[in-house]
Amino acid sequence: MEKLPSARNMGSATAAAKACLAAQEALGPDLVSLAPVNQTIVGVNWSETCWEAPSCVVQPSSAGLVSVVLRIILQFQVLFAIRSGGHSPNPGWASIGEPGMLIDLSRLDAVSINADASLVSVGPGQRWGNLLAALDPYNVTVVGGRLPGLGVGGFLLGGGFSYFSGEYGLAADNVRNFEVVLGNGSIVEANAQVNPNLFWALKGGGSNFGIVTRFDLATIPIHTVYAEIQTYAAAESAAVLRALAAWQLGTGASDVRATVVAISSLSGTTVGFIYSQPVATRPGAFAAFANIPVLATVLPPTNLSALALVEAAAGLANLAPQRHDYRAATTHVHADLYVDMFNFWAERAAAVHRKTGANQTFVLQPLTPNLVQQGIDKGGNPLGLRPSNLSWWTTLIDWRDAADDDIVRGVSIATTEEWKKRSGERFLYMNDCSRDQNPLPGYGADNVAKLRAVSRKYDPHQVFQRLQQDGFLLRKTNV
Ligand SMILES: Cc1cc2nc3c(=O)[nH]c(=O)nc-3n(C[C@H](O)[C@H](O)[C@H](O)COP(=O)(O)OP(=O)(O)OC[C@H]3O[C@@H](n4cnc5c(N)ncnc54)[C@H](O)[C@@H]3O)c2cc1C
Repeated sequence: MEKLPSARNMGSATAAAKACLAAQEALGPDLVSLAPVNQTIVGVNWSETCWEAPSCVVQPSSAGLVSVVLRIILQFQVLFAIRSGGHSPNPGWASIGEPGMLIDLSRLDAVSINADASLVSVGPGQRWGNLLAALDPYNVTVVGGRLPGLGVGGFLLGGGFSYFSGEYGLAADNVRNFEVVLGNGSIVEANAQVNPNLFWALKGGGSNFGIVTRFDLATIPIHTVYAEIQTYAAAESAAVLRALAAWQLGTGASDVRATVVAISSLSGTTVGFIYSQPVATRPGAFAAFANIPVLATVLPPTNLSALALVEAAAGLANLAPQRHDYRAATTHVHADLYVDMFNFWAERAAAVHRKTGANQTFVLQPLTPNLVQQGIDKGGNPLGLRPSNLSWWTTLIDWRDAADDDIVRGVSIATTEEWKKRSGERFLYMNDCSRDQNPLPGYGADNVAKLRAVSRKYDPHQVFQRLQQDGFLLRKTNV
């Protein structure tokens, strides 16, 4: 891509100070916090790796005010970052230090449900738990986050892997319309009829094109589901991974109502079995796991609401303020490969745990042919996936000391390198990518070219490439 002038070279400290004052004048002091920005606002980011204090935080409460902010950014050529829920652990994605402006979208949290509850409109600053709670009385839900506190905006723009993705596709595939503020401040809608290329690009293309201020999501006719969550001893981790592969390749995963979530740590593997309708006994789809002895039951076999499921899962992730990272790899489905890779990871994770206290998990997320087909049938997305069985590997890492950043992250970096060598898959799922990874080349050269054309058309000043602090950006993509 051509070299673009950087705001870092343009006397940006002065520009940022002027832009922050202009924003405060336009939006008022309640919506603009000037430096020194208060720590509560800084601490919204899930990971301490992103606790940076910007020149100011602006908290626009409408698309119109986002438009005002982007016009100010364009006028003063100031660096900025966009934050919805702040769950990205990548420094500079949803955080920015001085000089720079943080656009925090937490006040854009409106939820509105249409008359027949087939469509719900939600602001990017909302959390999935609140959205599911609003939908619960209508006996519907959405393809959305698997934990209640997770942010809506970043999740949807990166794709969105849900409990119901095997049946309905990624969350982004179920967006019917985006309201977007472009780099020049204009407010547009993007859907299958209006701005269709921008619509396609936003279904997994991240923060390259504009600030999304409203998502209109198709609801799905699911309320009560079957779920159980079991923990298996560490000695059974290999058996669980073998069962997962058998489930993926056998008849288990071809039942689109069934999904499995398996989270391995050094102390054992916790597995969620979810079936998207109420049933009296454990569905046969999960037979591959039947003979593995359970160590402890987290959630006994239950029929419960989609909202209650997400709430029950809340305890499975560490949402405490610590340093965090995650990292992506994609692999084909093979039991021996899973077990070898688990052992490769576990040996290193154990050594680093002994040295630093860092906790790491090993997670395989099953991609099914129907998941990909749903995206194609719903108009396509830029991810470039073909219907087949794959796994998206990820890890969540929690640690305390900044001095340990490299050694802790080294385990997952070594693991992804080994996955790449052993599996040969180059796709990386954006929502699980770490700061030094770039998912866009894995979308394929044709899709990257299309994304670039959309970026040039809708952002002629290249505001989101030149002035955005960091992210999975086209400016960093050389295909
Ligand atoms: C504990 C945990 C569990 C997770 N589980 C899942 C899961 O089950 N499935 C899954 O798919 N992912 C999962 N993720 C990953 C998650 O989807 C990403 O971290 C996602 O970015 C979170 O959304 P957010 O709104 O908090 O993003 P933020 O951190 O606020 O932003 C992430 C990126 O999106 C950009 N962005 C955010 N909002 C907008 C907007 N409105 N317009 C333009 N750009 C925007 C930001 O600039 C940034 O680059 C999980 C993450 C964590 C920490």
